[in-house]
Amino acid sequence: MDFSILADAYQRIEKTSKRIEMTKYLVDLVKSTPARDLPKIVYLTQGKLYPDFAGIEIGMAEKMAVKSVSIATGLTDEEINRDLRKTGDLGLTASLELERAAPERKKPLTVDRVYKVLDEVAHTAGPGSAEKKVKLLASLLSNATPTEAKYIVRIVTGKLRLGVADMTMLDALALTYGEGPEARPLIERAYNITSDLGEVASALATKGVSKIRDFHIELGKPIRPMLAERVHAPEEAAEKLGAEFVAEYKYDGERVQVHKNGKRIMLFSRRLENITGQFPDVVALARNSIAATAAILEAEIVAMNPATGDMRPFQELMRRRRKYGVAEAAKELPASVFFFDCLYAEGRDYTGEPYPERREALARSLRIGDAVNLAQNKIVRGTDELESFFEKAVEEGCEGVVAKSTGSESIYRAGARGWLWIKYKREYRSEMTDTADLVVVGGYYGRGRRAGVYGSLLMACYDDKTDTFKSVTKLGAGLTDKDLAELPGRLSPYVLEHVSPRVDAKERPDVWFEPSLVLEIIGAEITLSPIHTCGYNRFREGSGLAIRFPRFTGRYREDKAPEDATTEEEIIEMYESRLRKVAA
Ligand code: ATP
Repeated sequence: MDFSILADAYQRIEKTSKRIEMTKYLVDLVKSTPARDLPKIVYLTQGKLYPDFAGIEIGMAEKMAVKSVSIATGLTDEEINRDLRKTGDLGLTASLELERAAPERKKPLTVDRVYKVLDEVAHTAGPGSAEKKVKLLASLLSNATPTEAKYIVRIVTGKLRLGVADMTMLDALALTYGEGPEARPLIERAYNITSDLGEVASALATKGVSKIRDFHIELGKPIRPMLAERVHAPEEAAEKLGAEFVAEYKYDGERVQVHKNGKRIMLFSRRLENITGQFPDVVALARNSIAATAAILEAEIVAMNPATGDMRPFQELMRRRRKYGVAEAAKELPASVFFFDCLYAEGRDYTGEPYPERREALARSLRIGDAVNLAQNKIVRGTDELESFFEKAVEEGCEGVVAKSTGSESIYRAGARGWLWIKYKREYRSEMTDTADLVVVGGYYGRGRRAGVYGSLLMACYDDKTDTFKSVTKLGAGLTDKDLAELPGRLSPYVLEHVSPRVDAKERPDVWFEPSLVLEIIGAEITLSPIHTCGYNRFREGSGLAIRFPRFTGRYREDKAPEDATTEEEIIEMYESRLRKVAA
């Protein structure tokens, strides 16, 4: 097939802003494409050569493409750049300059040739690769018409942007190959379970729509994720899901789809990129803890504080998304994995099964260990139960909960956002902008690197009305090795056999202390919490306030007596004032 057919179609698609028209042009294009070229045009139309999960990008910098245009037109780089400053689009510049230079074209470009050359560009690496890429592109442009050149340059530099969404392409494929309205959902399902439009197109063109039913899940190809609707109050969730449903912790990390095929592990992100290389520790955990030989499981990766076992905020996990120093980052911020769904195990597709079956399959497929967990879940009846489960989740460092239907309809709907899953996130939170001085009232033995010392401390504020200390957070972050080594000595004079009568706490630390040592901390925010006693019952029955993600600033406030610590009223005021600002 001549590339000019594709370029002409792009020309038409680019000019319309109506989806119906765009689909019509796509249908015309699909109809005029022979089966063997169809996957190529499907990828090219979205500016790609492969589905996203393959992780292969053409990736040619504009500066290099300028050189190719210069070779094809006989103009200098400066001349091309001067024109580029006017048009702002190297594709357009290439097309205008080729029109002017009118080089002699040997034979028409085919889709196959363009695809092959671009593929070579994508796979060229190592020393001398820049020059080779420039030459490859120039060889295409020298034989391209001005219109063809415009689109080739845009594809190569990642600027095609025709606005053809996956769903529009599926519409065009369904209109061309579907035999009736029932074809569309079947075609969409094939796409949802393979995330590969090219493969779906190829199957339709070569085997016909009747065979699309045979599409099945394949290890190594990500399944498009099921997504949740959102509510702002627990009542709304209960309204949608009925008298009884399940609630799961909504972990604040990165979603991952883990594919295990024998010893091979692959990790895919929510956006279906292959992120296996980013998380060597998760790969190792998955290899050792997925009992099934073949499985596709979904989980949330959460950054952990290695010493305290506390979850860290999402932003810290993002520090692990890097090209270099991957192994160091894994050591500094090890990850825990919280599994929440099973889509496939030992040859069986679970996506059509309801939640309880999938959860059972998930439990069967896993060996739970130190950093490998099943997402906390609970069957809840009514909004009160949901609310207290939610507060427990937030307390432990989660974003909120995902309420999930457990009825017969509760299948895994790949690629769809719907009411079978409902997220309810913390909104009653207030950012913490000021530091607080809190009193150490308890200690927890450390693990790992912190074995033998206190891994974290139970911290309290002061209630001057009752002369008691009320717990408000658990502090682990910000304590240096020196602090950790010194703390047992500093605290030993205050160790008590039981809780001090002046301490009001629901937590049970390993060691109790007489309130004495004051530390300055800064937290990320203040939230409602069922387990801390600061501001208890003040904002909600059965809840107090907690400082989330506290960090020691390094300042021992030895100048302060415990009674000089930040008071309960001050924390309440901090919570309220920020809430007021958010509301305003
Ligand atoms: P958000 O930014 O709220 O996470 P989203 O658009 O990425 O939104 P949604 O489907 O709307 O995704 O919300 C559910 C998300 O919550 C999932 O994508 C997943 O990353 C995360 N998550 C954490 N814990 C769970 C859980 N137990 N079950 C399902 N999803 C969970």
